[in-house]
Amino acid sequence: MRKELHVISVSGGKDSAALAIYMKEKYPDREFKYLFFDTEEELQDTYDYLNKLQSILGIKVEYKFPEKSFKELLLQHNDYLPSPSQRWCTRKMKLETFLNTMQEFKDYTIYNYVGIRADENREGLIPTDEHIVTVMPFKDDGITLNDVKRILHDAGVGLPAYYDVVYDEEYDIEYFRSRSGCYFCFFMRQIEWVWLWEKHPDEYKKAMEFEKSGYSWIKDMPLSKLIEPESIDKIKKSYKRMQEQRKKQPIKNGTMMEEMDFISEHDKMLDEIEKDELCTMCTL
Ligand code: SF4
Repeated sequence: MRKELHVISVSGGKDSAALAIYMKEKYPDREFKYLFFDTEEELQDTYDYLNKLQSILGIKVEYKFPEKSFKELLLQHNDYLPSPSQRWCTRKMKLETFLNTMQEFKDYTIYNYVGIRADENREGLIPTDEHIVTVMPFKDDGITLNDVKRILHDAGVGLPAYYDVVYDEEYDIEYFRSRSGCYFCFFMRQIEWVWLWEKHPDEYKKAMEFEKSGYSWIKDMPLSKLIEPESIDKIKKSYKRMQEQRKKQPIKNGTMMEEMDFISEHDKMLDEIEKDELCTMCTL
């Protein structure tokens, strides 16, 4: 009979944090291995949130690092930055690190718990192997976004600090970063890049440095240009219009997006991707 290993990978995001709480409460006698795949290109908010989770739950999260740093991997990829269609970062820095870590447990059946919620319809990148069984307890138990927020609130963990809403009085808009992962993650919308510039200018400048070879995180919008006052003005106005539009009529399945010429091509592309491909290893 094979031994069993129960793994919960926490990303520094709300869903995986809620999953850790939920599973510990549901199976108090089960031993879980909590893993965090650290790209060393994370926001301090993420480390703070993981520390909070560990101290409140009384658990130990093991930090695992990729064999090569992002800088080394970038060099290997001839300075070609990762993008939604060339997502080598997730494979190299998270997926392979997960599989390498699991090498030690070849004789085990590995239960890999993933925090995809019942109200989501996505799969993303999930490690697969004949001895790895993917389990989605939130899907199985009908846990939705509101349940996740309640679980985090009741446990005293709350949301990561990057969810703190920024209110811009001049434009009358509220925005925040909507996911965990690397500070330069190309899955960020333009308003989130503005958020990064305003809240974490040092990280923004580091992300800018990776563009030095002419490749940019956003097609046709290098980060040096994105922070020009005219660009920020345009992004904030476009964001405001988008919010107003959403209030009037919820946008389903990307319909109407095509007609909204005030929304950047970058944000439209992300809206399409978000439905099913976002990385479960980075952003839950
Ligand atoms: S968070 Fe974004 S940039 Fe970082 S590994 Fe994941 S997909 Fe790549």
